[in-house]
Amino acid sequence: MARGWLSRRTWPLVALVTMVGAAVMAPSAQVRPAGRDTAVHARKPTRLLIRHAMVIYGNGKPPYGPMDILVQDGVIANVAPSLPVEADAVIDATGKYVMPGLVDTHMHWHDERAGIPMPIQYERNLYLANGVTLTRENGGNFSKSKQWQAESAADQIVAPRMQVYWVVSRGNGTAEAIRANVREAKARGADGLKIFGMDRDQLEATMAEAKAQGLKTTTHIAVEEVTARDFAELGVDSIEHFYGVADAALDGVQHFPPEMNYSNELLRFSKAGELYAQADPKKLDEVLDLMVAKKVAWSPTLSIYEASRDVIKAQNLPWYKEYLHPALQAFFEPNLANHGSYFVGWTNTMEVRWKQQYRIWMDALRAFGRKGGVITTGDDSGFIHSLYGFGLVRELELHEEAGFHPLDVITHGTVNGATLLGMGDKLGRVRQGFLADLLVVNGNPLENLRVLNPYGVDVMKDGRMTRGGGIEWTIKNGIPYHVPTLMKEVKAMVDADKKKVEGRPTAP
Ligand SMILES: [Zn+2]
Repeated sequence: MARGWLSRRTWPLVALVTMVGAAVMAPSAQVRPAGRDTAVHARKPTRLLIRHAMVIYGNGKPPYGPMDILVQDGVIANVAPSLPVEADAVIDATGKYVMPGLVDTHMHWHDERAGIPMPIQYERNLYLANGVTLTRENGGNFSKSKQWQAESAADQIVAPRMQVYWVVSRGNGTAEAIRANVREAKARGADGLKIFGMDRDQLEATMAEAKAQGLKTTTHIAVEEVTARDFAELGVDSIEHFYGVADAALDGVQHFPPEMNYSNELLRFSKAGELYAQADPKKLDEVLDLMVAKKVAWSPTLSIYEASRDVIKAQNLPWYKEYLHPALQAFFEPNLANHGSYFVGWTNTMEVRWKQQYRIWMDALRAFGRKGGVITTGDDSGFIHSLYGFGLVRELELHEEAGFHPLDVITHGTVNGATLLGMGDKLGRVRQGFLADLLVVNGNPLENLRVLNPYGVDVMKDGRMTRGGGIEWTIKNGIPYHVPTLMKEVKAMVDADKKKVEGRPTAP
């Protein structure tokens, strides 16, 4: 039975139909009349009961339901076909799907863009509304982010859980200086290191000290002396983006034109689109084998480069009308001074090459997954026409385009992310004893991953097109957040700030 066409307005009727089907699938479950949600937005109940949910567990096994889920003090206390318990808040998930919250393994917290202030709550709401309950920041304002991390952990702010990585790069200098920097990262409470732009000897020093300090590591390799091969050999935990993987499979160096200048973003991003096409397929396969053997996870961030294959689409996503903050809008204007806004003289030929490269890149990712490689999901939004959270849902869609079954894709976005961030034993699954980071979804993500997008999807109802889908509740640490309310707040922030920036000169 199709379950992806539920709209919030029509669910009582749908619920009845669904319950008939559900009763057939699980005869022991009692058919109870659909009730009303009594959960209150952003208020933590002691006992939260989610009733009649179809459950996607996160670990790749098929959905099962309808099930009741009891959350006690932020922890999943029980998952069973029928729980006759009293609770101080109830969410009726009849006809809905419940799955683990999503893990974004590559993001950044921004409170301004293009020099224009942007409320940090805007970004927090967007991530929660898109189902993200755990984030890893790969470089940002370290002190601010550590403060927000503590506030989120104490349930003091409306925000996902956070991990904050410390950036270490070539600029840190000698091996000794790098080692000192890594020790400082540990002393200041970094959850891990993001390694960026290094030569081999610097990387050896970084990795040796990271291991000595017990710090996790990830890398944005860029086009460097070192490639994925060096990072895998030295034991990095994960590789971000596409960088470094194809580079490890070239015959010699990259075939860039003589005018190449990596600091010119038009050149950098138009030519980066050719590296997978330049890679030797056999060598590429060997690099993937090495990554799998060394247990290096891959956070490909497919969605962040997508504008490169269709910039007109990226500039005109329908949800931008209401939800794109004016600071981001200004930042996304073509301008080589703003990182990722490289669409200055962008051509059809460049897009065609990116489309070709995407296919090879996705095939490599699919091969990596088939070999047993661990794949996670990150959006890196706030750059290149990608909006916080929306980019992560799009990332899931692109993992499906790469050839993964939606159930596998959800594992990338939940269990794998939690495991990579060292929390696989306590979140990322719908399981008794795990932290209650859960999504209550209007529809079946396995039928259409786009139902996770808070803008919703077009669905047919009574022969007419209507809006449906979206996550109804994002639950983090047992606190239910009502997604339509979060998005109403986002729109209010955008409207207020649009008024403020009116008449202001645009960014240079
Ligand atoms: Zn990033």
